[in-house]
Amino acid sequence: MKYKQYLPTYSHTFQEYSGWLTVETEHYIFYYTKGSEAEKDIEHIKERQEQAFQKIVTELKVPVLGQKITYYFYPTPELKTELMGDDWFAQSIYGEFCIHVLYTLQDKPIGEHEDTHLLTLPWGISINFLQEGLAEYMVGHNWYGEPHDECVREGIAKGYELSPSKILTEKDWLDTPQDGAVYFYALAGEWIKYLIETFGLEVFKKLYTECTREETAETIRKKYQKHTGKSIEELEEDFSQKLAIYSK
Ligand SMILES: [Zn+2]
Repeated sequence: MKYKQYLPTYSHTFQEYSGWLTVETEHYIFYYTKGSEAEKDIEHIKERQEQAFQKIVTELKVPVLGQKITYYFYPTPELKTELMGDDWFAQSIYGEFCIHVLYTLQDKPIGEHEDTHLLTLPWGISINFLQEGLAEYMVGHNWYGEPHDECVREGIAKGYELSPSKILTEKDWLDTPQDGAVYFYALAGEWIKYLIETFGLEVFKKLYTECTREETAETIRKKYQKHTGKSIEELEEDFSQKLAIYSK
C-alpha cells in the first residue's frame, strides 16, 4: 500500500547509521542509541508500546496486518535532523510503517498516538481533525496528562475558537493557531469520544473512511449529516452541552 505524505526534508540516512542498538517484541522493532535515555527506558518502552498496540486493535477493532511497527529513538534534535531530516518530536511514516521519535529526559512521546495513525491505515487517511482526534482519543488525555474535556474548557476560557464545525478541511486544521495546539488536539480527541460514544464505532468508522483529504468543507458537512442524521451544527450543540455538563 502506498500513502501520500508531505515530508519535503525526509531523509533515509538513519538506514545507514551504524550506532543503532535494536530489540524486537511481538509487534515492534525498536532502534535506539548507546547511553541514551531510550536505552535506559527500553524495558518500559517495550511494555508500554505492546500495551498501546493491544488497546488500539481491541478498542478500534482494526485488522492486524502482521507487519511490525519500527521505532527509531533519537537522543538529540541534532542527530534526529542529521539522520531523518527533521527535529520534530514524533512522526509516523505511513508507507514505511515506522515512527521517528526524539526521546530525551524531558520529552518521551511514546504511547498510542503515532501507533494509532499507522494501525488505522486500513481505514484510509481521514481529514486531519478526525485523524488526530482518533489518535488523541486512544491516548485518553492531553500531552500533559490532563483530561481532554478539562483542557477544552480551559482553551475556551482563554478565548480559542474551539468549534468542530469550523475545522473541516486539511486547511482548516493547519490554520488553527500553533500556540493553542494542545487545546485543538484535546478538542479533536474529545470530539471523537463524543462521536463514538453517541453513534457507535461502526458509524464513526464509515464517517472517518469517507472523509478523505480530497473532500471539501461542503462534502464533509454532507457526510456528517449522512452518517449521524444531524448537521454538524446540531452535533456541535449537543457536544457543547455535554462538555458543559461534565464541568459541573
Ligand atoms: Zn498525529
